[in-house]
Amino acid sequence: MIDPKILAQFKVAPGSKVDLGDYPTDWTETDEAKELGKKTIKKRAVEILEESKERLSVAQELLYASNTHSVLIILQAIDAAGKDGTIRHVMSGVNPQGCQVFSFKKPSAEELDHNFLWRYMKALPERGRIGIFNRSYYEDVLVVRVHPEWLGPGSPAEPDKKFWEKRYEDINNFEKHLVRNGTLILKFFLHLSKEEQRERFLDRIQNPEKHWKFSADDMAEREHWKDYRKAFEAALTATSTKHAPWHVIPADRKYVSRAAIADIITTSIQGLGLRYPEVGEEQMKAIEEARRKLERPSKDEG
Ligand code: AMP
Ligand code: MG
Repeated sequence: MIDPKILAQFKVAPGSKVDLGDYPTDWTETDEAKELGKKTIKKRAVEILEESKERLSVAQELLYASNTHSVLIILQAIDAAGKDGTIRHVMSGVNPQGCQVFSFKKPSAEELDHNFLWRYMKALPERGRIGIFNRSYYEDVLVVRVHPEWLGPGSPAEPDKKFWEKRYEDINNFEKHLVRNGTLILKFFLHLSKEEQRERFLDRIQNPEKHWKFSADDMAEREHWKDYRKAFEAALTATSTKHAPWHVIPADRKYVSRAAIADIITTSIQGLGLRYPEVGEEQMKAIEEARRKLERPSKDEG
């Protein structure tokens, strides 16, 4: 496990004003990390990811069996920060039957004709399951805050501050409702530096096997780096609540972000204190009866 004191630094304290400059993008460059040395950190991070995956597999089975809670994992980031790779690595040990992933793209005309939370509500995990939102309703206060012209019909052409504040309020109320109904919400912002994004985009250009990942749209969005940063800071400030806090995860080193996210997810599910369902008297009788028959098959089963 990662030292909880380190993980606590990634958590956005409810009510605090977020300046992303206060959060590292490369954790291995922090004073704390320098003492350990990069090689040791990488080795430990890989081990922690493996340990967390085993713990997560057990925790997920208990979540499924107890059927009292659901887990909603939200991943938000700038392009190339590693959302897809995180899902692939962190969830690789989990039973696919207990886990569902939804990726949200530009909304359809039908989706835009509903309230902005509609399409996400339909995708929420049922009790006993882990649901992952690869992008989420936070896009509706991020990408459209940078491009208000992409808001749906019925929205103001030039939304003011109040418009966004109401959306934050809707999100906070919606999340409170989910938590009250047994959902554990875990929100991760993968915090990538502009320089590391440049290198990852270049890698997509130089490596033919990664050409399919290259997107001219991503290049265009890079031009709005400062606006995205402001939109993220405002959203993280307004929506990191006691019931659903944000974690700002350093994303320049994939082994760091994956280990941190895997550890936080696993420890949080374990923190729910779940138990296997109690077996009633009748079920115990049926078990005893079955045991008797199975242990002496030929005599009893004639
Ligand atoms: P990707 O996840 O790279 O396939 O890209 C999906 C694209 O859909 C991104 O450019 C998002 O910004 C965009 N997108 C997701 N949700 C919304 C939304 N609610 N409104 C507008 N664009 C969105
Ligand atoms: Mg993309």
